[in-house]
Amino acid sequence: MSTLPLPYRVGYGEDAHRLAPGRPLILGGVPVPHAEHGAVAHSDGDAALHALADALLSGLALGDIGQYFPDTAAEWAGLDSRVILARALDLVRERGYVPLNVALVVTLDRPKLGPLRSEIARTLAELLGLAPAEVGVSFKTSEGLAPQHVQTRVTVLLGRTDG
Ligand SMILES: [Zn+2]
Repeated sequence: MSTLPLPYRVGYGEDAHRLAPGRPLILGGVPVPHAEHGAVAHSDGDAALHALADALLSGLALGDIGQYFPDTAAEWAGLDSRVILARALDLVRERGYVPLNVALVVTLDRPKLGPLRSEIARTLAELLGLAPAEVGVSFKTSEGLAPQHVQTRVTVLLGRTDG
């Protein structure tokens, strides 16, 4: 078994939330305008940031965000998910890695997210210290299979800062 730290590590995360009327829909730190329903969640329900934070943690085998932000803890109710992402990023940086590029897939039937692609990429890039061109953002629909859900999947490539 090698004891040398790997120069690169890949991380993967996913998340899903049920959607209900009268709640805000936030994806990648960007409020989605004209959403008729939003995520039912303990925090602000940003499924893109939750999957991204889990991807960062998984790349270094650090578990998942539920361990750091239990959804039973009253102090995390209504939490801005950028706090969750910042914590995951800190843990990654403390171990000598930084994200190099990210691929996000959002599955949502309504509304269409295409017009928000560059804003979401720009926001995620800013939060991660990357250029927008290093953040891929893809949108899918469930083809009516899960119209009351938002689902996200994220892969991230981590690189050693001393490499
Ligand atoms: Zn979530």
